Amino acid sequence: ASGSSLLRDPRYNKGLAFSESERDAHYLRGLLPPAVLSQQLQEKKLMMNLQQHHLPLQKYMALMDLQERNERLFYKLLIDNVEELLPIVYTPTVGEACQKYGSIFRRPQGLFISLKEKGKILEVLKNWPERSIQVIVVTDGERILGLGDLGCQGMGIPVGKLALYTALGGVRPSACLPVTIDVGTNNEQLLKDEFYIGLRQKRATGQEYDDLLNEFMCAVKQNFGEKVLIQFEDFANHNAFSLLAKYGTTHLVFNDDIQGTAAVVLAGVVAALKILGGILVDHTFLFLGAGEAGTGIAELIALEMSKQAKAPVEETRKKIWLVDSKGLIVSSRKDTLQHFKKPWAHEHEPVKDLLNAVKAIKPTILIGSSGVGRTFTKEVIEAVSSFNERPVIMALSNPTSQSECTAEEAYTWSKGKAIFASGSPFGPVRYNGKDFVPGQANNAYIFPGFGLGLVISGTIRVHDEMLLAAAEGLAGQVTEENIEKGLIYPPFQNIRKISAHIAAKVAAKAYDLGLASRLPRPDNLVKYAESCMYSPLYRNYR
Ligand code: NAP
Ligand code: MN
Repeated sequence: ASGSSLLRDPRYNKGLAFSESERDAHYLRGLLPPAVLSQQLQEKKLMMNLQQHHLPLQKYMALMDLQERNERLFYKLLIDNVEELLPIVYTPTVGEACQKYGSIFRRPQGLFISLKEKGKILEVLKNWPERSIQVIVVTDGERILGLGDLGCQGMGIPVGKLALYTALGGVRPSACLPVTIDVGTNNEQLLKDEFYIGLRQKRATGQEYDDLLNEFMCAVKQNFGEKVLIQFEDFANHNAFSLLAKYGTTHLVFNDDIQGTAAVVLAGVVAALKILGGILVDHTFLFLGAGEAGTGIAELIALEMSKQAKAPVEETRKKIWLVDSKGLIVSSRKDTLQHFKKPWAHEHEPVKDLLNAVKAIKPTILIGSSGVGRTFTKEVIEAVSSFNERPVIMALSNPTSQSECTAEEAYTWSKGKAIFASGSPFGPVRYNGKDFVPGQANNAYIFPGFGLGLVISGTIRVHDEMLLAAAEGLAGQVTEENIEKGLIYPPFQNIRKISAHIAAKVAAKAYDLGLASRLPRPDNLVKYAESCMYSPLYRNYR
């Protein structure tokens, strides 16, 4: 290839890091200034440049430019500065990027499949330049983060999630495929926006929607084979549960909003047991919010309880209660409940609001997953602290403005008793002369390692046992030292090591269940997972 095409190919470009001999061998002489920089020095320069930008969205755009210019350097930066850059590449900044995607859009970074492509999806997949795909993240843009329907502009989400698959989980960038399915949008503002990049129509529903998704799912399997992981992301809950159920028996599918969230929260709860003592069935759970996150978490906890206590899951579910927008979910409401809420309709008189539900149910663990901020009020937190030595309080709603309470409120109102974690990050809090460090129940702890475990074992179906294994793997990475500070999640800097451990647990479960196709089974799965992980270090081109 010519020198200039090498410089223009983000997969191979090294910029000023091309060595003297590479410049000779690949016709690069004169196309670069004389200086030769190491990758480390390039990284330093880029971090300095990033700090010049004050707005997070500008940092986001600078990072996307880098990804399109020099892929290895982009991933090196992301891996080495994960805590600083995660909120840029992913939530919350990616949300703003999606909202403004029409006006910042430069070059497509994934596949757009709209109703126009109906009947031709297999051809569309063949237009993608890479043949061996391992992970697809797909959205239909209907429920982007907590921001609602962003239609085709949801593409920022699959792009961001897959960047994390590579940076945190070590899946090769060339094996990742972001997809947005555009069936229209009900977002009036976007429909009126002259720069909107998607189909200008209301969302297709029913048969038309189902047919397009079915064509996509079949085409993926036909084109990329049986072992490609399809992660559903940010679908509205009226489609998310049914898509997962429908394709769970024929494809390797995973929904991060339901299953990834469930595993990360279960891991935090299991780690908290090291402080609280006892096993899961000794505890009573109350959720505010009974959607994808709430019911997904509840189901996985009930499953783990049933394994630990050797009791049927129908029994262990009774330890878990949920409140939705209409109050406590109880048996008298059963006829009017959506199907995913029905298993949680236990015998109890109706209770209208959270505070009275807390008083009636007396939970030891309180979890917020409603998307509505400021709902864990002083009264609620005082009530749960009145009958618990150490109440576990998880305020999962994102972004920060929607958090059920702040870390400071949780520690202050509980008088320092709360074991607190949240969906959005909060800094440490000083209360009564003591430092409290809140944990972050970030899905990025689980999905990259989970996906890596499926990929390296060649697994063909996701099984709930694998989610439990992933949660165990994460909880196992929480040290005594973390626990002493009240931390129920390990520090994020070690995420690649954490991902390798999760991957090993997931792969081991896949082998045990006979769902792994990569044979023979490696002896040391942690070492094997680490050896499979993508490294962003430059290669020598001879
Ligand atoms: P969802 O499927 O739309 O569910 C929302 C649930 O909250 C519904 O059951 C809804 O009730 C209920 N709700 C809404 N307003 C309420 C109110 N005022 N009082 C009581 N309940 C109310 O949404 P989701 O996907 O589960 O996500 C929910 C939140 O969790 C989002 O903020 C999201 O960012 C967060 N989340 C966090 C993590 C994490 O921390 N790792 C992961 C995933 C999601 P009805 O059913 O009656 O409408
Ligand atoms: Mn999501």
